[in-house]
Amino acid sequence: MNRPQPIEKMVEIIKKLPGVGPKMAERLSYHILEMSQGEVDRLLDSIQKARQTMKNCSVCYNLSEHDPCPVCSDSAKERDILCVVETPQDLIAVSRVKEYKGLYFVLGGALSPLDAVGPNDIRVEKLIKRLKSDTISEVIIATDTDSKGEITAVYLAEIIKKLNIKVTRLGYGLPVGGDIEYADEVTISRAISGRQEM
Ligand SMILES: [Zn+2]
Repeated sequence: MNRPQPIEKMVEIIKKLPGVGPKMAERLSYHILEMSQGEVDRLLDSIQKARQTMKNCSVCYNLSEHDPCPVCSDSAKERDILCVVETPQDLIAVSRVKEYKGLYFVLGGALSPLDAVGPNDIRVEKLIKRLKSDTISEVIIATDTDSKGEITAVYLAEIIKKLNIKVTRLGYGLPVGGDIEYADEVTISRAISGRQEM
């Protein structure tokens, strides 16, 4: 027996979320159908609200209700040091490290030749524009430690060095193939203090 059509449709959509396979999509769908109407309404409402109120900061491209975001408008930040991350989640992970007081730039992904993701698909141009307009003395590249993150780091370092800006990469301690987002504060803190010039 096949799943009823409305459930089938739900599974198909949920399956497209990152990290959710067919089994998990089925489990989540049936779980949602077991939830009370109130719970379902709150779930849908939270998605809608976040979708409607979150926007990209026009300076760092972090997701925020405000533009510029609270990080960019924080006057206590050191404005000549910039940490480049792949996603807003990575920005949050790095921002938990109290020793880092600089600013950020969210690339919106990583280069991936195999998936045909090139420099125009992430914010390389916008990063260069910011580096040319602001006074930045060091860029810390905090892309993930997987192959896409490494390719992106090498690519960016070449360009940034030509602008006579010091480029560093997070040092040892981060698990290879890992996502910055999931690294704990102590690990990121060590990786920042052990950063190496590229
Ligand atoms: Zn910002």
